[in-house]
Amino acid sequence: MTRVVRTRRELRAALADTARPIGIVPTMGWLHAGHRSLMQRARAEDRTSVVTIFVNPRQFGDPKDLERYPRNEAGDVAICEEEGVDLVFAPDVDEIYPPGFDTAIHVGAVAEPLEGAARPGHFDGVATVVAILFDLVGADHAYFGQKDAQQVLVVRQMARDLAIGTEVIACPTVREADGLALSSRNVHLDPEERAAAPVLHRALVAGRDLWRSGERSGDRLRATMAGELATEPLARPDYVSVADAVTLRELDVVTGSALLSLAVRFGATRLIDNEPIG
Ligand code: AMP
Repeated sequence: MTRVVRTRRELRAALADTARPIGIVPTMGWLHAGHRSLMQRARAEDRTSVVTIFVNPRQFGDPKDLERYPRNEAGDVAICEEEGVDLVFAPDVDEIYPPGFDTAIHVGAVAEPLEGAARPGHFDGVATVVAILFDLVGADHAYFGQKDAQQVLVVRQMARDLAIGTEVIACPTVREADGLALSSRNVHLDPEERAAAPVLHRALVAGRDLWRSGERSGDRLRATMAGELATEPLARPDYVSVADAVTLRELDVVTGSALLSLAVRFGATRLIDNEPIG
């Protein structure tokens, strides 16, 4: 049975003498197969699995984006039940940020480019809530999706720098049959946009294939991905990146591991995806 708790106090009580290791899967709900894959990893590797469901206002720059973020707690809890999750922590905003809360965690260079540049303050919100959740749960392991590759790097940096003992584990991106990465935001795509959205994955595959064929020029890899995106009139690219896999600095020449990544708008919906190479 999955137990649902809403307050810090209930969470502490539920975890008081629980079996370790404890694995945490932080989510914003509207759970899908991508989240399920993280729960399955936690179930396989930990004796206690905790899913958190919290739409974190501090990581949204645009109030409209926050307002229209999809929510379905009953469905989410049912999915956690199906996956055999031990505990769901679904707090209210005040439970995470009580009145008077006045601290933010700001991660440095790795949080600056890409999503950090496109969404100012986003990673401060992410780092702050994740630090709170890691501490409240006392997690040994935390499972994050590679789909949000920069988030993994930012959270790792935060945990290392703040001496938080939770190990951050990145899990592969789960995709639809046509290559579209699963995302809670996909629900906002209208049928034409949904049909167009797999162009992100096609662009990444085109970049990866060109790299596999020996191309090492960052500009030529970016141009190939941008060219593939341009075949889809509904796709409005936000960025097309070939960056160092560790620092996320844009690369002139790919010499080691790199991250191909994209952010693309379809109407009011902004999708991201990435492909590690090397
Ligand atoms: P979210 O609820 O969107 O904040 O996502 C919660 C966690 O699920 C994050 O670690 C995401 O990276 C991860 N996630 C989201 N989509 C996918 C996916 N398609 N495949 C794997 N993990 C995912």
